[in-house]
Amino acid sequence: MDMKNAVGIVTGSATGIGAACAVRLAQQGCHAVINYTKSEAEAAATAAACERLGVQTLLVKANVADDADCRRMAEAALSKWGRIDALVNNAGITKFARDHRDLDALQAEDFQRVYAVNVIGAYQMTRAVVPAMKKQGRGAIVNVSSIGGMRGSGSSIAYAASKGALNTMTLSLARALAPEIRVNAVCPGLVETRWLRDGVGPEAYAKFKAHYEQGAALRKVVLPEDVARAVVWLLEGADLVTGESIVVDGGFLVAGQA
Ligand code: NAD
Repeated sequence: MDMKNAVGIVTGSATGIGAACAVRLAQQGCHAVINYTKSEAEAAATAAACERLGVQTLLVKANVADDADCRRMAEAALSKWGRIDALVNNAGITKFARDHRDLDALQAEDFQRVYAVNVIGAYQMTRAVVPAMKKQGRGAIVNVSSIGGMRGSGSSIAYAASKGALNTMTLSLARALAPEIRVNAVCPGLVETRWLRDGVGPEAYAKFKAHYEQGAALRKVVLPEDVARAVVWLLEGADLVTGESIVVDGGFLVAGQA
Protein backbone atom coordinates (compact mmCIF):
# COMPACT_ATOMS: atom_id res chain seq x y z
CA MET A 1 0.00 0.00 0.00
CA ASP A 2 1.55 3.28 -1.11
CA MET A 3 1.82 5.55 1.94
CA LYS A 4 2.53 8.77 0.03
CA ASN A 5 -0.29 11.18 1.00
CA ALA A 6 -2.03 8.36 2.87
CA VAL A 7 -3.55 9.05 6.30
CA GLY A 8 -2.65 7.14 9.44
CA ILE A 9 -3.90 7.22 13.03
CA VAL A 10 -1.43 6.14 15.70
CA THR A 11 -2.92 5.83 19.17
CA GLY A 12 -0.74 6.79 22.13
CA SER A 13 1.71 8.53 19.81
CA ALA A 14 3.06 11.29 22.05
CA THR A 15 5.79 8.99 23.33
CA GLY A 16 7.79 5.80 22.83
CA ILE A 17 6.82 3.28 20.18
CA GLY A 18 3.77 5.28 19.04
CA ALA A 19 5.84 8.39 18.44
CA ALA A 20 8.41 6.35 16.48
CA CYS A 21 5.60 4.86 14.35
CA ALA A 22 4.20 8.32 13.55
CA VAL A 23 7.65 9.58 12.52
CA ARG A 24 8.31 6.48 10.42
CA LEU A 25 4.96 6.92 8.68
CA ALA A 26 5.86 10.56 8.04
CA GLN A 27 9.14 9.44 6.46
CA GLN A 28 7.02 7.45 4.01
CA GLY A 29 4.90 10.55 3.22
CA CYS A 30 1.89 9.60 5.35
CA HIS A 31 -0.10 12.28 7.20
CA ALA A 32 -0.66 11.36 10.82
CA VAL A 33 -3.12 11.75 13.66
CA ILE A 34 -1.07 12.08 16.84
CA ASN A 35 -3.17 10.88 19.76
CA TYR A 36 -2.45 11.53 23.42
CA THR A 37 -4.24 11.52 26.74
CA LYS A 38 -2.03 13.68 28.99
CA SER A 39 1.31 14.40 27.31
CA GLU A 40 0.30 17.37 25.18
CA ALA A 41 3.82 18.84 24.97
CA GLU A 42 5.30 15.50 23.89
CA ALA A 43 2.49 15.02 21.37
CA ALA A 44 3.25 18.45 19.92
CA ALA A 45 6.94 17.52 19.66
CA THR A 46 6.05 14.30 17.81
CA ALA A 47 3.79 16.28 15.47
CA ALA A 48 6.58 18.79 14.82
CA ALA A 49 9.01 15.95 14.02
CA CYS A 50 6.50 14.57 11.49
CA GLU A 51 5.85 17.97 9.94
CA ARG A 52 9.58 18.55 9.47
CA LEU A 53 9.41 15.52 7.18
CA GLY A 54 6.85 17.32 5.01
CA VAL A 55 3.54 15.78 6.08
CA GLN A 56 0.51 17.21 7.87
CA THR A 57 -0.54 16.21 11.36
CA LEU A 58 -3.56 16.49 13.60
CA LEU A 59 -3.28 16.40 17.40
CA VAL A 60 -6.21 14.63 19.04
CA LYS A 61 -6.63 14.29 22.78
CA ALA A 62 -8.67 11.11 23.18
CA ASN A 63 -9.00 8.12 25.46
CA VAL A 64 -9.26 4.90 23.42
CA ALA A 65 -11.15 3.24 26.28
CA ASP A 66 -14.00 5.64 25.47
CA ASP A 67 -15.92 4.68 22.32
CA ALA A 68 -17.15 8.24 21.71
CA ASP A 69 -13.52 9.44 21.77
CA CYS A 70 -12.54 6.75 19.23
CA ARG A 71 -15.31 7.82 16.87
CA ARG A 72 -14.38 11.48 17.36
CA MET A 73 -10.75 10.71 16.46
CA ALA A 74 -11.76 8.94 13.25
CA GLU A 75 -14.16 11.79 12.39
CA ALA A 76 -11.40 14.35 12.94
CA ALA A 77 -9.15 12.56 10.45
CA LEU A 78 -11.97 12.24 7.94
CA SER A 79 -12.96 15.88 8.14
CA LYS A 80 -9.33 17.00 7.63
CA TRP A 81 -8.26 14.55 4.92
CA GLY A 82 -11.38 12.65 3.81
CA ARG A 83 -9.74 9.24 4.24
CA ILE A 84 -8.07 6.84 6.69
CA ASP A 85 -5.61 4.31 5.30
CA ALA A 86 -3.76 3.08 8.34
CA LEU A 87 -4.42 2.53 12.03
CA VAL A 88 -1.79 1.61 14.61
CA ASN A 89 -3.38 0.47 17.86
CA ASN A 90 -0.40 1.27 20.04
CA ALA A 91 -1.97 2.77 23.19
CA GLY A 92 -1.43 0.46 26.10
CA ILE A 93 -1.26 0.35 29.86
CA THR A 94 -0.35 -2.14 32.52
CA LYS A 95 -0.66 -2.80 36.21
CA PHE A 96 2.74 -3.79 37.55
CA ALA A 97 2.51 -7.04 39.55
CA ARG A 98 5.70 -8.76 38.46
CA ASP A 99 5.54 -11.65 40.91
CA HIS A 100 2.98 -13.76 39.09
CA ARG A 101 2.77 -16.13 42.08
CA ASP A 102 1.18 -13.36 44.15
CA LEU A 103 -2.40 -13.70 42.93
CA ASP A 104 -3.62 -11.12 45.47
CA ALA A 105 -1.59 -8.44 43.70
CA LEU A 106 -4.31 -8.13 41.04
CA GLN A 107 -7.94 -7.23 41.57
CA ALA A 108 -10.83 -7.44 39.12
CA GLU A 109 -10.58 -3.67 38.54
CA ASP A 110 -6.95 -4.05 37.45
CA PHE A 111 -7.96 -6.52 34.73
CA GLN A 112 -10.88 -4.30 33.70
CA ARG A 113 -8.71 -1.16 33.49
CA VAL A 114 -5.97 -2.89 31.46
CA TYR A 115 -8.43 -4.65 29.15
CA ALA A 116 -10.38 -1.41 28.62
CA VAL A 117 -7.35 0.11 26.89
CA ASN A 118 -5.31 -2.82 25.51
CA VAL A 119 -8.17 -4.88 24.12
CA ILE A 120 -11.42 -2.90 24.03
CA GLY A 121 -9.62 0.30 23.01
CA ALA A 122 -8.09 -1.45 19.99
CA TYR A 123 -11.48 -2.94 19.11
CA GLN A 124 -13.27 0.39 19.36
CA MET A 125 -10.64 2.22 17.29
CA THR A 126 -10.83 -0.49 14.66
CA ARG A 127 -14.62 -0.23 14.52
CA ALA A 128 -14.34 3.56 14.17
CA VAL A 129 -12.07 3.41 11.09
CA VAL A 130 -13.57 0.41 9.29
CA PRO A 131 -16.39 2.22 7.42
CA ALA A 132 -13.91 4.64 5.80
CA MET A 133 -11.44 1.88 4.93
CA LYS A 134 -14.19 -0.32 3.45
CA LYS A 135 -15.49 2.59 1.39
CA GLN A 136 -11.99 3.28 0.08
CA GLY A 137 -11.52 -0.42 -0.64
CA ARG A 138 -8.21 -0.44 1.23
CA GLY A 139 -6.81 -0.15 4.71
CA ALA A 140 -4.31 -1.72 7.06
CA ILE A 141 -4.29 -2.05 10.84
CA VAL A 142 -1.42 -3.04 13.13
CA ASN A 143 -1.90 -3.87 16.80
CA VAL A 144 1.09 -3.29 19.07
CA SER A 145 1.02 -6.37 21.27
CA SER A 146 3.86 -8.01 23.23
CA ILE A 147 5.80 -11.25 23.56
CA GLY A 148 4.13 -11.28 26.99
CA GLY A 149 0.94 -12.22 25.14
CA MET A 150 2.71 -15.29 23.72
CA ARG A 151 4.59 -16.51 26.77
CA GLY A 152 2.30 -15.32 29.61
CA SER A 153 5.13 -13.18 30.96
CA GLY A 154 5.75 -9.51 31.69
CA SER A 155 4.56 -6.81 34.02
CA SER A 156 1.54 -8.76 35.28
CA ILE A 157 -0.78 -11.65 34.46
CA ALA A 158 -3.47 -9.09 33.56
CA TYR A 159 -1.14 -7.42 31.06
CA ALA A 160 0.02 -10.70 29.48
CA ALA A 161 -3.58 -11.92 29.21
CA SER A 162 -4.64 -8.64 27.58
CA LYS A 163 -1.93 -8.96 24.93
CA GLY A 164 -2.86 -12.62 24.36
CA ALA A 165 -6.41 -11.42 23.79
CA LEU A 166 -5.12 -8.75 21.39
CA ASN A 167 -3.28 -11.44 19.39
CA THR A 168 -6.46 -13.51 19.16
CA MET A 169 -8.46 -10.44 18.20
CA THR A 170 -5.93 -9.80 15.42
CA LEU A 171 -6.83 -13.20 13.95
CA SER A 172 -10.58 -12.64 14.25
CA LEU A 173 -10.45 -9.16 12.73
CA ALA A 174 -8.13 -10.24 9.90
CA ARG A 175 -10.77 -12.76 8.87
CA ALA A 176 -13.74 -10.46 9.49
CA LEU A 177 -12.38 -7.40 7.66
CA ALA A 178 -10.83 -9.04 4.59
CA PRO A 179 -10.49 -8.55 1.69
CA GLU A 180 -10.37 -4.74 1.91
CA ILE A 181 -8.54 -4.45 5.23
CA ARG A 182 -5.49 -6.31 6.54
CA VAL A 183 -4.98 -6.70 10.30
CA ASN A 184 -1.66 -7.74 11.84
CA ALA A 185 0.21 -7.41 15.12
CA VAL A 186 3.77 -6.84 16.25
CA CYS A 187 4.95 -8.42 19.48
CA PRO A 188 7.94 -6.56 20.87
CA GLY A 189 10.24 -7.81 23.59
CA LEU A 190 11.80 -5.31 25.98
CA VAL A 191 11.78 -1.90 24.31
CA GLU A 192 13.78 1.11 25.52
CA THR A 193 10.96 3.47 26.47
CA ARG A 194 9.72 5.12 29.64
CA TRP A 195 7.31 2.18 30.08
CA LEU A 196 9.43 -0.18 32.15
CA ARG A 197 11.90 2.52 33.33
CA ASP A 198 9.08 4.48 34.99
CA GLY A 199 7.25 1.32 36.00
CA VAL A 200 10.03 -0.27 38.05
CA GLY A 201 12.52 2.59 38.61
CA PRO A 202 15.98 3.16 37.10
CA GLU A 203 17.90 0.64 39.21
CA ALA A 204 15.60 -2.33 38.59
CA TYR A 205 15.35 -1.24 34.95
CA ALA A 206 19.14 -1.46 34.51
CA LYS A 207 19.03 -5.02 35.86
CA PHE A 208 16.15 -6.03 33.57
CA LYS A 209 17.95 -4.54 30.61
CA ALA A 210 21.21 -6.36 31.37
CA HIS A 211 19.33 -9.63 31.93
CA TYR A 212 17.48 -9.18 28.65
CA GLU A 213 20.64 -8.37 26.68
CA GLN A 214 22.32 -11.49 28.02
CA GLY A 215 19.30 -13.64 27.24
CA ALA A 216 18.48 -12.36 23.74
CA ALA A 217 20.14 -14.14 20.83
CA LEU A 218 21.04 -10.78 19.28
CA ARG A 219 22.27 -9.41 22.66
CA LYS A 220 20.19 -6.25 22.40
CA VAL A 221 17.05 -4.69 23.78
CA VAL A 222 14.66 -3.35 21.16
CA LEU A 223 14.46 0.34 20.23
CA PRO A 224 11.15 2.07 19.42
CA GLU A 225 12.43 2.55 15.86
CA ASP A 226 12.93 -1.22 15.46
CA VAL A 227 9.26 -1.76 16.28
CA ALA A 228 8.20 1.16 14.06
CA ARG A 229 10.05 -0.33 11.07
CA ALA A 230 8.12 -3.61 11.47
CA VAL A 231 4.81 -1.76 11.95
CA VAL A 232 5.29 0.36 8.85
CA TRP A 233 6.39 -2.64 6.78
CA LEU A 234 3.17 -4.42 7.78
CA LEU A 235 1.18 -1.36 6.73
CA GLU A 236 3.06 -0.50 3.58
CA GLY A 237 4.86 -3.50 2.20
CA ALA A 238 3.10 -6.62 3.43
CA ASP A 239 0.33 -6.65 0.85
CA LEU A 240 -0.42 -10.37 1.24
CA VAL A 241 0.08 -10.62 5.00
CA THR A 242 -2.93 -10.63 7.31
CA GLY A 243 -3.67 -12.21 10.69
CA GLU A 244 0.04 -12.39 11.47
CA SER A 245 1.81 -11.57 14.74
CA ILE A 246 5.45 -10.66 14.15
CA VAL A 247 7.88 -10.97 17.04
CA VAL A 248 10.44 -8.14 17.32
CA ASP A 249 12.46 -9.11 20.36
CA GLY A 250 16.14 -9.37 19.43
CA GLY A 251 15.78 -13.14 19.58
CA PHE A 252 14.73 -13.39 23.23
CA LEU A 253 12.06 -16.03 22.58
CA VAL A 254 14.19 -18.06 20.23
CA ALA A 255 17.14 -18.09 22.64
CA GLY A 256 15.06 -20.15 25.04
CA GLN A 257 15.08 -17.63 27.88
CA ALA A 258 11.30 -17.75 27.84
P1 NAD B 1 4.65 4.53 26.51
O1 NAD B 1 4.18 4.63 27.90
O2 NAD B 1 5.61 5.56 26.01
O3 NAD B 1 3.43 4.48 25.48
C1 NAD B 1 2.12 4.14 25.81
C2 NAD B 1 1.25 5.23 25.23
O4 NAD B 1 -0.12 4.85 25.34
C3 NAD B 1 1.43 6.54 25.99
O5 NAD B 1 1.67 7.58 25.08
C4 NAD B 1 0.08 6.72 26.69
O6 NAD B 1 -0.30 8.06 26.84
C5 NAD B 1 -0.84 5.98 25.71
N1 NAD B 1 -2.10 5.62 26.34
C6 NAD B 1 -2.29 4.94 27.50
N2 NAD B 1 -3.60 4.82 27.77
C7 NAD B 1 -4.24 5.44 26.73
C8 NAD B 1 -5.61 5.63 26.43
N3 NAD B 1 -6.58 5.19 27.25
N4 NAD B 1 -5.93 6.29 25.29
C9 NAD B 1 -4.97 6.75 24.47
N5 NAD B 1 -3.65 6.60 24.72
C10 NAD B 1 -3.30 5.93 25.83
O7 NAD B 1 5.28 3.07 26.35
P2 NAD B 1 5.65 2.23 25.04
O8 NAD B 1 6.69 1.26 25.48
O9 NAD B 1 5.92 3.09 23.87
O10 NAD B 1 4.30 1.39 24.82
C11 NAD B 1 3.57 1.40 23.61
C12 NAD B 1 2.94 0.04 23.39
O11 NAD B 1 3.98 -0.94 23.30
C13 NAD B 1 2.01 -0.44 24.51
O12 NAD B 1 0.85 -1.02 23.93
C14 NAD B 1 2.83 -1.50 25.22
O13 NAD B 1 2.02 -2.49 25.81
C15 NAD B 1 3.65 -2.06 24.06
N6 NAD B 1 4.88 -2.76 24.47
C16 NAD B 1 5.88 -2.11 25.15
C17 NAD B 1 7.02 -2.82 25.50
C18 NAD B 1 8.17 -2.17 26.25
O14 NAD B 1 9.05 -2.90 26.73
N7 NAD B 1 8.24 -0.86 26.34
C19 NAD B 1 7.14 -4.16 25.18
C20 NAD B 1 6.10 -4.80 24.50
C21 NAD B 1 4.98 -4.08 24.14
